[in-house]
Amino acid sequence: MTTPFGTSTVLGYPRIGPHRELKSALEGYWAGRVDAAALDTVADDLREQTWRTLRDAGLSAVPSNTFSLYDHVLDAAVAVDAVPQRFRRLGLDERDTYFAMARGTAQEPPLEMTKWFDTNYHYLVPEIGPETVLTARPGKPLKEYAQAEALGITTRPVLVGPATLLLLAKPTDDAPEGFTPFDRLDDLVDVYADLLGALADAGVPWVQLDEPAYVADRTDAETDALRAAYTRLGTLTRRPALFVAAYFGELGEALPALLDTPVEAVGLDLVAGPADLDRLAGYGPIPGRTVVAGLVDGRNVWRTDLRAAAAVGATLTGLADTVAVATSCSLLHVPVDLAAETDLDPQVRDRLAFARQKVDEVVLLGRALRDGVAALPAAAPPAPAGWRDDAVRARLDALRPEHTRRGPHPDRAAAQQARLGLPLLPTTTIGSFPQTDEVRRARAEHRAGRLDDAGYADRMRAEIARVVAEQETLGLDVLVHGEPERNDMVQYFAEHLDGFVATAHGWVQSYGSRCVRPPILHGDVSRRAPVTVGWSSYAQTLTDRPVKGMLTGPVTILAWSFVRADQPLSETARQVALALRDEARDLEAAGIRIVQVDEPALRELLPPRRRDHESYLDWAVAAFRLATSGVADATAIHTHLCYSEFGEVLPAIEALDADVTSIEASRSRMEILDDLATVGYTRGVGPGVYDIHSPRVPDHDEVTAALRRAVAVVPADRLWVNPDCGLKTRSYDQVRPALAALVRAARTVRAELPSTAPADTAAGRA
Ligand code: GLN
Ligand code: ZN
Repeated sequence: MTTPFGTSTVLGYPRIGPHRELKSALEGYWAGRVDAAALDTVADDLREQTWRTLRDAGLSAVPSNTFSLYDHVLDAAVAVDAVPQRFRRLGLDERDTYFAMARGTAQEPPLEMTKWFDTNYHYLVPEIGPETVLTARPGKPLKEYAQAEALGITTRPVLVGPATLLLLAKPTDDAPEGFTPFDRLDDLVDVYADLLGALADAGVPWVQLDEPAYVADRTDAETDALRAAYTRLGTLTRRPALFVAAYFGELGEALPALLDTPVEAVGLDLVAGPADLDRLAGYGPIPGRTVVAGLVDGRNVWRTDLRAAAAVGATLTGLADTVAVATSCSLLHVPVDLAAETDLDPQVRDRLAFARQKVDEVVLLGRALRDGVAALPAAAPPAPAGWRDDAVRARLDALRPEHTRRGPHPDRAAAQQARLGLPLLPTTTIGSFPQTDEVRRARAEHRAGRLDDAGYADRMRAEIARVVAEQETLGLDVLVHGEPERNDMVQYFAEHLDGFVATAHGWVQSYGSRCVRPPILHGDVSRRAPVTVGWSSYAQTLTDRPVKGMLTGPVTILAWSFVRADQPLSETARQVALALRDEARDLEAAGIRIVQVDEPALRELLPPRRRDHESYLDWAVAAFRLATSGVADATAIHTHLCYSEFGEVLPAIEALDADVTSIEASRSRMEILDDLATVGYTRGVGPGVYDIHSPRVPDHDEVTAALRRAVAVVPADRLWVNPDCGLKTRSYDQVRPALAALVRAARTVRAELPSTAPADTAAGRA
C-alpha cells in the first residue's frame, strides 16, 4: 500500500531566502569571508524555514531537495556522478568541485549555462559522453530528507527526471559525431533505479521526478523512450511511489505514454497547458492514480481566481481516483513573500500573490476539492479604471500598415551613410560600459534621497563625458553614452513608464547567487516624458562622431517583467512598442542618428511547441517594427541579440528589418553569419568578435582572425565590428585593451580589403 499523496503541494519553492540569505552566504564563501560550516548553517536554516512554512501553511505534501547551493540541474548531474574529468582533476573537495563546475576556476571554465525552458532562470548544462561513468550519488536528497524527518516533516524528494536530464545535457567534447546524451537513457535509468532504491531504504514514501522537457515537441522515439523508462522504474520492487511532473506547457502525446506506465501520480500544468485536461478525459479510466493538478500559476504574480481553478479541479475529480492541487511549476520563478512589499501601491498589491501567498491558495483549493467552494474568497476585482489609458488604445487603433513600414533597405542604407560617413567595418560597442563604484554609489545615494536630482544628473553627465572621451581615445567609430544611469536594461524603462510598478524585495533567482527583481506590468503602458533622450543627446553634444541611442525592445521588456494576464501578450507588447516608438522619434528629433533597440530575449519567449511559434514571432516582430518604424529612413535602426541559439528565430531576425543587427557569434566562430545568409538576411551585421562574458582579454591577432572569418562570409560593406554584448559586467582593465585590440584589428582587416572597396568612403554601401 502506498502512502496517499496528499491533497495539496507545491512543485518547488524559492531557495534564496526571504532576504537573499543564500546570496550573501554564497558570495561570502566564494570570497573567503564565510567558511564551509557557516555556509552549511545558512543552507540548513533556509531548508528548515521552507519546510516549516509549507507545513504550517497546511500543505499536505511537502517537497524536499528543491533547495540548491547553485542549480538543481547541476545537483541532478552530481546525483548521477556526471562530473567531467576536468573538474575531478582539480582535486577539490565535493563542495568546491561543485562550485568549480558552476563558476569555473582560474584553470577551468565552468559548465555552459543556458536558460531553463522559456524562463529567465539559467541552468548549468551537464556534459555526458559515451564514456561518462554514471553512478548513483543519493547523498544530497537523502541528507535533506533526513533533516526534514528530524523536524517531524515527511517530505517528497524532487529530482530532475532521467529523460529531461539527458535532453538538457550536451555531449562531451570527445563524443563521436552523431552521439547524443539521450543515447545513454538506459544506463541512466539504471542509475535512477539505484537512487530510488536508496531513497526507499531510507523510508521515503514518494519521489517527484520532473520531466518538463516533454512539454516541447518530442520525436516518437523520445516519447517511447519515456514510456520505457518509467515502465522500468515503475516495475522496480524496491522504490518509493513515483510522481512524474511536467510543466511550462502541455504534455500532449507524452501524457498517454506516462499513463501507460505504473507511475502512481502525474502532474499537469493546467495553467500553461489546459488542453491536457481533455487528453486525460480521452484516455479513459486511470484507476489507482493521482493526478496532481497545477492550478496555481508558478510563473506569474497575480492572485489565482480560486473559484475558476476549483471548477477545473472538479472536472478532474470525475476523471481520476485522486486529485491533488499544486502550483503549475516550482515557485522558484516568483518572489518569496508579498508581506515584504509594504510600500507597494495597494491597488496593485491587493491583486498579487508571491510564493508564500500561492501556497495558501493551493491549500485553499485542496480543501475546496474536498469540502466545496463556499469558503473560497472571490476573485480579485477587475482592474481599476485608472489603469486604462484610452489615449494609448486610440492611438494603437489608428495605426495603419503604412505607419509601420520603412523604405527599402538599400535606399535607407544610402541615406544613413550619407549622414554618418562611416568607414568600412565601422567599430562600435553594444551599449553599456563598466559600471564603476562611483556610478553605483551615485545611484544608491540618489535612491536613498541623499543625492538630489540635480546632483545625480551632474554625476551621470560626468560619467557620460568620461565614457565618450574613452571611446574617442580608443578610436571607435560609433559611440554610446555607456548606460551609467541604468540599474538594469528592463527595470530602468519600467521605472520611467506608466503601467509598471517596481517591488522593493521581489527578488527571483536568475542563476547561482544572481537574483533579479522583475518589474510588474499591471496596466496600460504609456510614456510620461522622454526617458533616455537627455542622456543620449548630452553624449552627442560632446562628440562629432555618431552616438547611438539605446532602447530595450518590447519583447525583452515583457520577458523580464511580470506581465498582466488579463489581455494577450501581443496587445501589451503593442503598448510598450508605442512608448518606445515615441522615444525613438524624440531621440531622432534631438539629433541622434542611430537608435539601437535591444531584443536579447527574442528567443526566450518562443513557445515550447512549434505550432505556436508562428503566432508568437508574428507579434514579436510586429512590436519591434512598431517601435522602430516611426523614424525617417535616414535614421539607422540597430538591434542587438544574444544569450541564445538563434536557429529557430532566424527568419524573425530577418523580419525585424533592422538596418544593423549585432549578434553573439564569438563562441560559435561566426557560424551565425552563414545561418543569417541562408534566411536571406542582407542588411548590416555586427557579429560579436570576442566574448565579453569571460574576463579574458582578446588580443589583436585573435580579433583579426575572427574578423577575417566574418569578411569571408559577409561583404565588407555590410559588416560591423563590435564585442558580443554590453560591457557593464567587465572592468576597465579588461575593456580598454580589448577595445584597443578590436579597433586595431578593424584597421588591419580594412587594409586587407580589395581596393575596389575604398576604406574611407561611402561608395557602394548597401
Ligand atoms: N545595450 C545593452 C548593454 O549593452 C544590451 C545588453 C544585453 O544584450 N543583454 O548592456
Ligand atoms: Zn547582449
